[in-house]
Amino acid sequence: MIYFDNAATTAPYKEALETYMTVSEKYFFNTASIHQSGKDASRLLEAARNQILDLMELKTYDLVFTASATESNNIAIQSMLKRKKQFGRTILTSELEHPSIVNVLEEMKNDGFNVKYIDTNEAGTVNLESLKSMLDSDVVFVTVMALNNIIGSVQPIKEIVKMLKDYPKVHFHVDATQAIGKADLDYNGVDTISISAHKFNGVKGIGGLFIRDLATIRPVLYGGGHEYNIRSGTVNLPGITAMAKALRLTLGEAREVNKRLSQFNMKIRESVEGLEFIRLQPKAAPYIVNMSFVGAKGEVVVNALSKRGIAVSTTSACASKLATLNETLLALDNEDNVIEGSIRISMGRSTTEDDVNKLITALKEVYEELGDVLK
Ligand code: PMP
Repeated sequence: MIYFDNAATTAPYKEALETYMTVSEKYFFNTASIHQSGKDASRLLEAARNQILDLMELKTYDLVFTASATESNNIAIQSMLKRKKQFGRTILTSELEHPSIVNVLEEMKNDGFNVKYIDTNEAGTVNLESLKSMLDSDVVFVTVMALNNIIGSVQPIKEIVKMLKDYPKVHFHVDATQAIGKADLDYNGVDTISISAHKFNGVKGIGGLFIRDLATIRPVLYGGGHEYNIRSGTVNLPGITAMAKALRLTLGEAREVNKRLSQFNMKIRESVEGLEFIRLQPKAAPYIVNMSFVGAKGEVVVNALSKRGIAVSTTSACASKLATLNETLLALDNEDNVIEGSIRISMGRSTTEDDVNKLITALKEVYEELGDVLK
């Protein structure tokens, strides 16, 4: 199978798997145990934590390890809003967010919060003027992702931090799950930031939440008090050390990988540009190409490619389980048939020119095969 679904998940680095195995064997101890082996494990945990904070250039932040970005997003939103309710009830978010943000916010409406959506520009970025016009004294929480998982648009995080300086009561959360190694963003000034190891060639089941002021975050689940009493549960040390390894490797090769993927991105886009019933979404981060076979269903295209040994997805692995039209593509004012016929091609560090050539051939074959279905 030629893999073009790296935005859904990535293959772990061999080195990350080796770290996972070694730490599982030699440091399987509970980091909360006070015997020497527990202390050794705990030292390893803190070394991994510091390395990740260093690599992310967030040295003044704290980092709480979680099981996923979904969990990190939930902790940030649910815990903040419990605290903020007395100060205001309005939450601002983009129209581009992942279900692990949107569905939590929708749930918050039952708790008396108002959720308002910031307008989107043509390029798939949040409209800063719209955000500015929505900031009033009732706003307590703003959440905007760093890099969109459907089309790859990179959001103006630094500009939002700057804008929110005049609103000290507002907590700014960033879901940076897709951005690691893909966009060189400065997160300093953001209140909380979510990441997930399996999106940057780490192992699954490990995420992180960077926190600017630990005192502002409360647990969502209560227990034995691990991870600064914010995320109880025996710590996944093998996963965490593997995440530190994957992060170092990802950031180390990011420039070279992105340069290569930029060329592949251009090649894929150029190969379909003359086809009447193909619509391309705006060009953004190099690793994603989102295109629609207008008139066809995305699932049909995915299956036709799958039969040819090529793995892509419809919009996103998460959203494609939902019956509704994809929100990111709706925010970009796409017609329903463009959204329905959309596929997401997402490349990774192991994607080769040969993979891309095979994909291009298969895309053309499927286009021909669909014939009159396309319109
Ligand atoms: N946010 C974004 C932007 C994502 O793409 C994903 C993964 N699809 C998540 C959050 C959730 O990540 P996880 O799988 O670690 O829960």
